[in-house]
Amino acid sequence: MVTEAILTGVFFFFVDGLGLGSDDPAKNPLVSAHLPTLTALCGGRRLTQGELGQGRLVPPGEGACVAVLDPAMGVAGLPQSATGQTALFTGRNAPAIMGHHVNGYPTPTLRRVLLSDSIFKRVAMHGGRVTFLNPFRPPSWERLLAAEPPADVSASTLAFFAARQPFRSLADLAAGQAVALDMTGRVLRDRGFDVLPVSAWEAGAIAAKVASRYDLTLYESFVTDLAGHAQHERLARDILENIDRFVAAFVAEASDTLLVLTSDHGNVEDLSVKTHTKNPVPALVYGPDQATVASGWHDLADVARGVLRYLGISENHAD
Ligand SMILES: [Zn+2]
Repeated sequence: MVTEAILTGVFFFFVDGLGLGSDDPAKNPLVSAHLPTLTALCGGRRLTQGELGQGRLVPPGEGACVAVLDPAMGVAGLPQSATGQTALFTGRNAPAIMGHHVNGYPTPTLRRVLLSDSIFKRVAMHGGRVTFLNPFRPPSWERLLAAEPPADVSASTLAFFAARQPFRSLADLAAGQAVALDMTGRVLRDRGFDVLPVSAWEAGAIAAKVASRYDLTLYESFVTDLAGHAQHERLARDILENIDRFVAAFVAEASDTLLVLTSDHGNVEDLSVKTHTKNPVPALVYGPDQATVASGWHDLADVARGVLRYLGISENHAD
């Protein structure tokens, strides 16, 4: 594998609990929120099943390509975080490996899959530069410096841990080299951390600057999932509008980074239920070779495989 094949990097924006729902503004904040950038990237369509259709890509043009992904991956039940994230970040059918969908922290089996097949590990092993844009606060950050991964970490964090690269801290956040999970830093301030407010636009610009120095950058936001479980419409709209501003700044500032925005399962797109949903999830791909990258994406595992292929890394796990 040749590292020289990596021409432009990938910004993997993982939005937890973002599905394609109905066109009903009373249920779906993706309809009621003001999302000019996401709508423009979707060729004037909203991110709903009715406007995007099942399994179709928005034709390439001024906008992005949007693949409609199946988060269930052939396994009955409600899609969940641990299996969904493992599939997104390894390219393996984690729900099928487990025989069911797993919520919360990854099981020992999922941990083994993440530690062996993480895309961040695979890119790093091929000489690529990988980073995780979210800062970790004490004591989590110190625990992530250990040789052994902590027991209580999400699949996304474990996937990055597998690459054995430095995690970002609150010092990086203060230096404008990290972005908080809610972009603005409010969640950290509410917990007593001395963190300056950042606008979603500023956060998107920081993301573009950091991502320009890496082959693969992960940014995770799970406040969407929390708003969905809380069925909190105002909060959900505010978060989605911040994501829209973040993406606007990112695409304005990042000239040649491929943006991949996707999710592990539905939730926030249907505020009439407290749980995750069985809705498909979007994978919005914008940037160099977007149509080629997203062609043939049908489920969560296709995202990981597509990212590796784009970065010139073989999909063969034995390489
Ligand atoms: Zn959830």
